[in-house]
Amino acid sequence: MGLRDFFGILPPRIQYTTESSQTGSVPMPGTVVLTWRDATPADVGVRVGQSVETGQNLARNGGTALVSLATGQVEAIEMAPAPNGAEELAVTIATAGKDVSPKALKKQLKAIEHFGEAGRDEVLKKLTIAGFSDVDLLSLGAEALVISALDSNPLATVNQQALRDSADQFLNAVELLKTATGIAQPVLAVPENLSAAGSHAEGVRVVNLPAVYPNGLPEMLARSCGAGTLLKKVGDCVVGNTLVVGLERAIAMAECLSGGKVLTRKSVSCSSGSEVRNLRVRIGAPISALLAEMGETAQSGGKVIVNGLMSGYACYSTDQPVTENCDSIHIQSATDVYAFEDARCTNCGKCNQICPVNLEVNMIGRFAEYGLFDKCRTAGVANCIECGLCAYVCPARRPLVQLMTHGKIKTDEHGGQAQSLKEALECNACGPSCPAIHLFDNSPEPAQNKE
Ligand code: SF4
Ligand code: SF4
Repeated sequence: MGLRDFFGILPPRIQYTTESSQTGSVPMPGTVVLTWRDATPADVGVRVGQSVETGQNLARNGGTALVSLATGQVEAIEMAPAPNGAEELAVTIATAGKDVSPKALKKQLKAIEHFGEAGRDEVLKKLTIAGFSDVDLLSLGAEALVISALDSNPLATVNQQALRDSADQFLNAVELLKTATGIAQPVLAVPENLSAAGSHAEGVRVVNLPAVYPNGLPEMLARSCGAGTLLKKVGDCVVGNTLVVGLERAIAMAECLSGGKVLTRKSVSCSSGSEVRNLRVRIGAPISALLAEMGETAQSGGKVIVNGLMSGYACYSTDQPVTENCDSIHIQSATDVYAFEDARCTNCGKCNQICPVNLEVNMIGRFAEYGLFDKCRTAGVANCIECGLCAYVCPARRPLVQLMTHGKIKTDEHGGQAQSLKEALECNACGPSCPAIHLFDNSPEPAQNKE
């Protein structure tokens, strides 16, 4: 997928996979596991053994939506390990094959023909009922909206494929996002290899970008096509000014709301070696269902990596469920696994040179390694976008992304007081490491608008 540097002179150029791949389908698995952060078994209003229907809100007393994405019988309700090491609520459902939905859901999710006429509150309410998480981000007053046909990692093609395959839903998706965010002119970010497909897009300003990593990372898109910084939640605070939504997700939103359906399936790019195949799978299906469809098995000593070799994570078990944020899995054989070493930094400076947010990576890595978290904070560790480029170029094979992440977790002491975007930007509880400021200081100018 990429090139290492040439005798240390040229930085690596990691190209995105750009081949078109028809999207196949994975059969309904025997069980699905639905996961929710910030919820516990006490929040669930159904019991083990009880039957549930697709789209049913499983929350106790109809509270915050915990939407069932399958029809069947509840097998387990428990706390399970989340990929970030924390715990999350997991509800296991033994599926009954055909989807049946509660009668009341038909009325609640009555299809919307024109999103603009339905209005913002109606669209946001229905997205929540349809099972989309992070819907509140749409209403937080972003200054700019970027719809991305670039994928965030080099071996994913789900957003590119959505641009090729879903021209009929594109206008609907744009109208929905305009209504939900109140932003009149969104940007469509398109990889240069698909500029012809992007040129037909209406209702958006098109920006063509080289299909080179890390151009598709949301933080980079906020900089190159948006108003500067990515809108996100940090603890209880909201920081940034640009909302970035992948095209595959935008189209899924439009399909669900115009069809009166809940979000049950998503596309995942599956790769082994450099071959990439897109598969539509039930959200909550075990990752092993994707492997079975590819005719692959997890090898002893190998890894299955979720969301990209550069910025993803190795899954702890192939029973781990596919989530709505999973865009890709990559099967790595034991011989391809990259071994990190506990080697000393030689101060070659390659990591600092390549860091897209201009961090002093070698120093922050050492601060994190030796527990000097105050120094990590002042050096701006919170600004790391976890792109993985530093670790990719490090000749000492230091686990730099892990050190950055460790430093970020240990310094995550955001005040948690700011509630609105304006308050968050003025909050300054993080001091110099606030993710809302300093990001991209001294970095190159944004990409040119090609239209
Ligand atoms: S992972 Fe973080 S520190 Fe490393 S290059 Fe990317 S942004 Fe910079
Ligand atoms: S951390 Fe690695 S890339 Fe960075 S200066 Fe040290 S040896 Fe070089």
